[in-house]
Amino acid sequence: MIIEMKKGAVTGEIEAVKKRIEELGFSYYVNPGKDVAVIAVLGKNTGECDTQVFEALSGVERVMRIEKPFKLSSRRFKEPNTIITIGDVQIGGQEMVMMAGPCSVESKDQLFSCAELVKNLGYRVLRGGAFKPRTSPFGFQGMKEDGLKILAEARAKTGLLIVTEVMAVEDLPVTAEYADILQIGTRNMQNYPLLAAVGKTQKPVVLKRGFAATMEEWLMAADWILNGGNPNVILCERGIRTFSNCTRFTLDVGIVSVIKHFSHLPIIIDPSHAAGHWQYVSSLARAGIAAGADGLIIEIHPNPQKALSDGAQSLTFSDFTRLSGELKGIASAVDRSI
Ligand code: PEP
Ligand code: MN
Repeated sequence: MIIEMKKGAVTGEIEAVKKRIEELGFSYYVNPGKDVAVIAVLGKNTGECDTQVFEALSGVERVMRIEKPFKLSSRRFKEPNTIITIGDVQIGGQEMVMMAGPCSVESKDQLFSCAELVKNLGYRVLRGGAFKPRTSPFGFQGMKEDGLKILAEARAKTGLLIVTEVMAVEDLPVTAEYADILQIGTRNMQNYPLLAAVGKTQKPVVLKRGFAATMEEWLMAADWILNGGNPNVILCERGIRTFSNCTRFTLDVGIVSVIKHFSHLPIIIDPSHAAGHWQYVSSLARAGIAAGADGLIIEIHPNPQKALSDGAQSLTFSDFTRLSGELKGIASAVDRSI
């Protein structure tokens, strides 16, 4: 249930609403808003609570039910788009954000060369995994803290922001120490203790869609982070499992506009993990931008054939540079810039 306060409602009125919510055994989340405060009433049985209980209170404009199971990520709760600001970079604004780098940090040389290209193309965010969720226990598991240190060095050299995956609650302190943006991988989208833990930080979080998750499940996962008090959630569509096996996963490009309809959160596209092969990455990247995504996260490698993870889907520097040129025109066709 959502309680919209009147324009100019005073603190005492908002406090009285909060008190009433608590008396009824529910919890709340307040979005102070620019003009009007909105209060979400949260709890298991809010559906059984009569809206009149709140409508009668002073300063309340209207009370609405959210029929959807996701709440804080819903556009019913917060109308304007969420724009996440990190330094002078904005995610979810007019400008689309490009994040690129290797699947895994492998060495200084490898990461620095990627960082230099990302910077030279005018982009602001460098990706690189240090804790890697590998399907096989025999695959390369990432450089862990040594990888985070290399990422931090690349940031110091280039000024790029760092996005890197946090895989487990116990890795969060060290990962958050180095990262500008945390990534929750597809396999962890429903790791609720991890979502709650990143919700207690204020670090922006790229929340990848679970590859078998519905939109509702994905937005409820976002609610876990938002409910912890961290408003900085960036959704990332990275492909889902379908009957089609012609690409590694199936990019659900349609979800971009559906998310824009139902949620205020920014959404980016990961064409690399969806495609699974470098030959198909560029067209999915172009589709994501054309669909109105707020940015892309792409895997690149100075020598994909030698990559320790996801080499098949990593773009060479020349292919990434070519794609980069193509995306500008597509962005401007949808009234955005890159
Ligand atoms: C990655 O970004 O390298 C990764 C493992 O992504 P996903 O969780 O989408 O598979
Ligand atoms: Mn990868």
